[in-house]
Amino acid sequence: MKIIGHLINGALIHNDSKPTNSQLLDVTNPSTNEVIGKISLASKATVEEAIVAAEAAYPAWRNLPTAKRVQIMYRLRDLLEQNARKICELITQEHGKVLNDAMGELQRGIENIEYVCSAPEMLKGEHSKNVGPAIDTWSEFQPLGVCAGITPFNFPAMVPLWMWPMAIACGNTFVLKPSERTPSSALFIAELGIEAGIPAGVLNVVNGGKEAVDTLLTDKRVQAVSFVGSTPIAEYVYTTGTAHSKRVQAFGGAKNHAIIMPDADLDNTVAALMGAAYGSCGERCMAISVAVAVGNDIADALVTKLQQQISALKVGDGMDNQNDMGPLVTPSHLKKVESLIAKGIEEGAKLVVDGRELQVPGFEQGNYLGACLFDHVKPEMVIHSSEIFGPVLCVVRVETMQEAMDIINAHEYGNGTCLFTRDGEAARYFSDNIKVGMVGINVPLPVPVAHHSFGGWKRSLFGDLHAYGPDSVRFYTKRKTITQRWPTSGVREGVQFSFPSNG
Ligand code: NAD
Repeated sequence: MKIIGHLINGALIHNDSKPTNSQLLDVTNPSTNEVIGKISLASKATVEEAIVAAEAAYPAWRNLPTAKRVQIMYRLRDLLEQNARKICELITQEHGKVLNDAMGELQRGIENIEYVCSAPEMLKGEHSKNVGPAIDTWSEFQPLGVCAGITPFNFPAMVPLWMWPMAIACGNTFVLKPSERTPSSALFIAELGIEAGIPAGVLNVVNGGKEAVDTLLTDKRVQAVSFVGSTPIAEYVYTTGTAHSKRVQAFGGAKNHAIIMPDADLDNTVAALMGAAYGSCGERCMAISVAVAVGNDIADALVTKLQQQISALKVGDGMDNQNDMGPLVTPSHLKKVESLIAKGIEEGAKLVVDGRELQVPGFEQGNYLGACLFDHVKPEMVIHSSEIFGPVLCVVRVETMQEAMDIINAHEYGNGTCLFTRDGEAARYFSDNIKVGMVGINVPLPVPVAHHSFGGWKRSLFGDLHAYGPDSVRFYTKRKTITQRWPTSGVREGVQFSFPSNG
C-alpha cells in the first residue's frame, strides 16, 4: 500500500508502512471507492520540523539573486511538461475528474510558473531621484520569511502552484499543506521542484488535517498564510491567522450566477453553460450553478435545450477521456449533494432532470451522480443560498436584468459571474455594477489568466490581495522605502525643526 508522507528539508519522510508519529488515513479512488493509498497525517511535531527547516533555509535563499531563483522555475516548468501525464493520472485517481480536465488544470498551473519567471522585473522596485536636495528615495519589496499554504481537494495541482512558486521566487521559504483527500499530485510536483534545484528546506510539504493547519496558523515563525477552501474554514483560517499576527489571504466558497438575456445567442449560451455547470462534476469554485433567465420565453427555450444536451452527457471513469464528467470526490460529499437535491424538491423547485439513478457499468461502487437540472428556483431556497458543489444547475426566472443583478448582489458569495448578451450597453452596465470579483461577458468561467490576479468579493475572500498575478507579488513581499542623502561635501546646514516643504 502506498504511504503518502511529507517532504521536509529536501527529503521524503514517513512514507514507509510504519510512520513513527503520524496517524494514517485512507485515500480512495472516487470512481471505485477502492483504497489506493494511505496518507500520513502530520502531528504538530512533524509540522514544526518543516517550519524549522524553512526557517533555517531562509537567510541563504533570501540572499540568492532573484534571477538564480527564477532559473529553477524555468527548469521546473520543463519538468512539469515532461511529467504531465503522470501528474494528471495522480489527480484523476484521487479526485475523479476526467484526464483532459486534469491536463487543463495543470496547464493553468504551468502558466503561473511562467509568470513567476518574470519575478526579477516585478521585484525591481520604485525609484525617485532628487525628492529633495541630493535626496533619493526608493521602495523595495522584501520577502516575509516562512510562508504557508493550505489547499482544497478540487484543484490539487493548480492551487498549490498559485502559491509556492511566487512565494519562493520572491525569496520566502514555504510549507504547503495539501488536501488530505487529493494529496499525491502536490507532493510529486514538490519533488520535481527539488529535482529542478530548489534547495533543501526552501519548499516543504506536510500532509495532514486540522492539527497541521492549526500549527501553521499559530506558530510565530510563520509570517503569512494563503488558504483556499470552503467559506467556514476560510473564515476560521483568516480570524485565527490574523489573531496570531500573520498576513492572511483566505479564499472561500462560491455560488456563481449566469444571466441569460433575451438577446443571447442561445446555442452558444447552452454549450457554455453545460461545460461550466457540469465540467469536473460541478466541483469548481468558478462553476456556474445558477442560470438566471430574463423573461419566460428565453427560460423555456433554455431549459428545453439544456435537457437535450444533458441527455447526451457521458458520465464515467475519469481515466477515459471519452467521458465528459467523472464521479464526485467522496461518498459523504455525494450524500450531501443528494440531500440538497431532496431539499430543493421539498421547497418546491421543479427537478426537470434527475441524475440520481445513474449507474456506471463496471463502476457501481463509485460516487456517481448524473447531471441534475432544477427549474423555477427561488432566491430564498436553500439550493440557491448554499454552495452545492456538484452537477446541479438551478434555473431562476426573472423579468428584468436589474432583478437578476439584485439577486446576485444580495448573495453571500461573490466569486464569479457571467452575462450572456449581444447588447454592449447592458454588458457595460453589468460589469460596472455587479458586486462580484471576476466577471465574464459571454465567457462562463472568467478565471483570470496568470498575469492578472484571481479572487472573489464578499464571503468568497477574506483578506485584501487576490491570488497569483501582480497581487501575489504584493502578498508575498513587504515594502521597504529608503530615503538617502549624500550632501555635497563641505556644505553644512543648521538644525531644522519644522517639517521640510517645497515652498
Ligand atoms: P475544505 O474547506 O474542506 O478544505 C480546505 C483545506 O482546509 C484542506 O486542506 C483541509 O485539510 C483544511 N481543513 C478542513 N477542515 C478544517 C478545519 N476544521 N480546520 C482547519 N483546516 C481544515 O475545502 P474542500 O472541500 O477541500 O474544497 C472545496 C471548497 O473550496 C469549496 O467550497 C470551493 O468553492 C472552495 N474553493 C475555493 C476556491 C477559490 O479560489 N475561492 C478555489 C477552489 C476551491
